[in-house]
Amino acid sequence: MKQFACGDVVPGCGQRFTGDTEDEILGQVADHAAADHGLAEVPADVVEAVRAAIVEA
Ligand SMILES: [Zn+2]
Repeated sequence: MKQFACGDVVPGCGQRFTGDTEDEILGQVADHAAADHGLAEVPADVVEAVRAAIVEA
């Protein structure tokens, strides 16, 4: 399993995600970013930051 804490990229956000693959997590993050951060699309540099912050659980 891999996990990602949104707070690593967006300070103050307590949302956490787990998934089997980076892509699965990125899908969840895209939904969360749209719903909670007002990002209709996740910019490439944010995707990079998310990938860098994903850790093995
Ligand atoms: Zn967040």
